[in-house]
Amino acid sequence: MRSDLFTSLIAGPCSAESLNQVLATAEGLQGLPLSYFRSGIWKPRTQPGAFEGIGDLGLSWLVEVRRRFGFPICTEVATAEHVRAAASHQLDMVWIGARSTVNPFTVQEIAEALEGTNLPVMVKNPVNPDLKLWLGAIERLERHHIKVIGAIHRGFSVYQKTKYRNNPHWQIAIDFKQARPDIPIIMDPSHIGGRAALITPLVQQALDLHYDGIMIETHCDPSQALTDAKQQITPLQLQELLQTLEPRTPNDRALQELSELRDKMSLIDENLIELLQERMALSLEIGAFKRSQNTHILQVQRWEETLRANVEKGINAGLSSEFTELFIKMLHEESIRIQLGLQAKQPNEN
Ligand code: PEP
Ligand code: MN
Repeated sequence: MRSDLFTSLIAGPCSAESLNQVLATAEGLQGLPLSYFRSGIWKPRTQPGAFEGIGDLGLSWLVEVRRRFGFPICTEVATAEHVRAAASHQLDMVWIGARSTVNPFTVQEIAEALEGTNLPVMVKNPVNPDLKLWLGAIERLERHHIKVIGAIHRGFSVYQKTKYRNNPHWQIAIDFKQARPDIPIIMDPSHIGGRAALITPLVQQALDLHYDGIMIETHCDPSQALTDAKQQITPLQLQELLQTLEPRTPNDRALQELSELRDKMSLIDENLIELLQERMALSLEIGAFKRSQNTHILQVQRWEETLRANVEKGINAGLSSEFTELFIKMLHEESIRIQLGLQAKQPNEN
């Protein structure tokens, strides 16, 4: 990797699963200028019953990674107990996860436990898109005299499925930088993307947006990972990715802006498709209801009123009346087709 690209490079598995797995992963990362080797020991899982981390035993595995490969080591802490365990194994850094940053009681407990330990801390953004909560968590740590603090942008939870696992809301990261230019901010493309295929474009984005570093989940055998299998890449893939990375020239920045705008548009298109899907499911339900009530599928007067009202709304919103009318008519035609239980037209069919 060109060492001038990022100040911090953090890599390692989502979770420590066995001593062999952490050692094999660390071995693959040899030669990279790793700031820290990461691994989750206590895992905050969305649902109970999933693998919840190996616990304290994993700390000794991390210590073994440091002894054999010389990498500084870090893990996520979510309670005072975790902080004490991490400090007693002389971890080199800890991070606060997105599900903890969201809760001021948890951050307070961690801040109190960290006071006096000299452990550097990185704070992931909270799961919800709330800049103040993120900044507040950092302030809480500062009030407990924690000196070395960084931030990790890992994206924000979404309900509807999108291209990303967690919506990046780039503006929040940009606003964070503006509010706290003194705090280094790194990107976690693994949790933003949620898929290995998205890691490269996201890392390029981190470079273009001048992040101070990246944290990438890396596993010696991602397909067998007990957590976040889809988003982890192999150490070799990380090595290759970092070799192909190039800072873009100012001219390319225009392309970058264009690609961000396109990303935004794709997100809107995805949402539109989901809305259409919801609308058609509702149409089906209305069709069944009409049949049960012996009502006609097409009620001409209601349809004419709806069309007129929608065209007017479209015009008020700055859309052309032709486009709005055509769009509403197409929607209506499809609804009738669905309610009548007709087959969709096949391509080439008249
Ligand atoms: C992690 O880094 O493995 C993790 C659980 O991250 P987050 O808090 O961003 O979900
Ligand atoms: Mn993970």
